[in-house]
Amino acid sequence: MHLFHYQNARLHCEATDLQTLAEKHGTPLYVYSKGTITSHFQRLDEALAPLNHLICYAVKANSNLAVLSTIAKLGGGFDIVSGGELFRVIKAGGDPAKCTFAGVGKTRAEIEYALQQGIYCFNAESEAELRYINLVAGELGKKAPVAVRVNPNVDAKTHAKITTGKSENKFGIDFDQILDVYDRVARECPNLVIKGLQMHIGSQLTNVDPFVEAVRKVVPLVEQIKAEHRIEFFSIGGGIGINYRQSLDSGPATWWEENPEAHPLTLKTYAEAIVPQLQPLGLRILCEPGRFMVGNAGVLLTQVLYEKRGSAKTFKIVDAGMNDLIRPTLYEGWHQIVPLKQPASAALEKVDVVGPICESGDFLAQNRDLPPVAGGDYLAVLSAGAYGFTMASNYNTRPMPAEILVEGSTARVVRGRQTLEDVLKGETP
Ligand SMILES: *Cc1c(COP(=O)(O)O)cnc(C)c1O
Repeated sequence: MHLFHYQNARLHCEATDLQTLAEKHGTPLYVYSKGTITSHFQRLDEALAPLNHLICYAVKANSNLAVLSTIAKLGGGFDIVSGGELFRVIKAGGDPAKCTFAGVGKTRAEIEYALQQGIYCFNAESEAELRYINLVAGELGKKAPVAVRVNPNVDAKTHAKITTGKSENKFGIDFDQILDVYDRVARECPNLVIKGLQMHIGSQLTNVDPFVEAVRKVVPLVEQIKAEHRIEFFSIGGGIGINYRQSLDSGPATWWEENPEAHPLTLKTYAEAIVPQLQPLGLRILCEPGRFMVGNAGVLLTQVLYEKRGSAKTFKIVDAGMNDLIRPTLYEGWHQIVPLKQPASAALEKVDVVGPICESGDFLAQNRDLPPVAGGDYLAVLSAGAYGFTMASNYNTRPMPAEILVEGSTARVVRGRQTLEDVLKGETP
């Protein structure tokens, strides 16, 4: 679900005309729909309503303060992977007591900061980390709430770079070792309080089966840990996939439906498959969606600079590059690209949409059927709200794009475009 649609042949985000925004604020420009984020949160919240649950939004998907503040006001918690993300959550008005701290390499400074702020739980990924948290907590005279991330060795059937629940991935502790780890920690780490168990098998899952397989495999383990260590929560992680091939529900043109075999995982299928298995546990269930919450809530606006017709290909050279949106080249991510002004004819041409960066991997789309667009025209790269701006960089000394949050007909700049002075800050010749 998303709130992007053509109205009078111009692409709108909610009631805001995107070309007007692009002309006013320049491109590349990220635009987010607050209504879409809100609706995603509320729909997931409803789907999990039969469970005592907490949605811990995965901050790394989109960490803009305005996005975090929106989710905090809806009552959401946060899954963080660094001290920096905790700092953001607090700045945005989020509650540390609703934060879980994931990641394989937490540093002393991060552990101390999280303990001082009173986070809900550290989700630890190795026994060495548990022992280190125990040590740091002892030095601060605190008890650290901990859970262990279990690696259930389940194939999430997603892109290799976003699969996390197989034994060969660096994440979590092997399923078979978990009980021994809990026993040792309970005996030998007096400054730890065992609070739960966590898993996260991967990202952009478009089929419910891996979730079901993982839950089925891990639930008996959770029951055993609950009996022995009186834990209070089980976190099922994030990973709910989104549909990158959405209809903009207007007009006859359906040329963006390039790949109809993509079947998104619906919330209904997800909830119906896992809620009945989780309910009998009688525990608090945590869910850590990132992409689901914000992916389809954001677009990246870009302007066509030049066209180049080569012997093998036609290139549309645009002003957004892989430094602004790295998903196409890093994950082979497919993003729908549409003109802000809806084309009058259904004519299409096969083009590569490429950025200005000096890398052959700098493309937003390859061999894509697009309506004819010329220099000066604006395009929207859809479903860019997750792992878009948060993965942007200053490569090629390009300032990071501005970010805008739309609510109805109101558009607010929630991060100004970087200046070159910003980019060079801290450097000395
Ligand atoms: C990245 C991450 C998530 C969110 O994944 P999505 O696919 O964006 O939902 C959740 N939990 C953990 C531990 C993560 O690392």
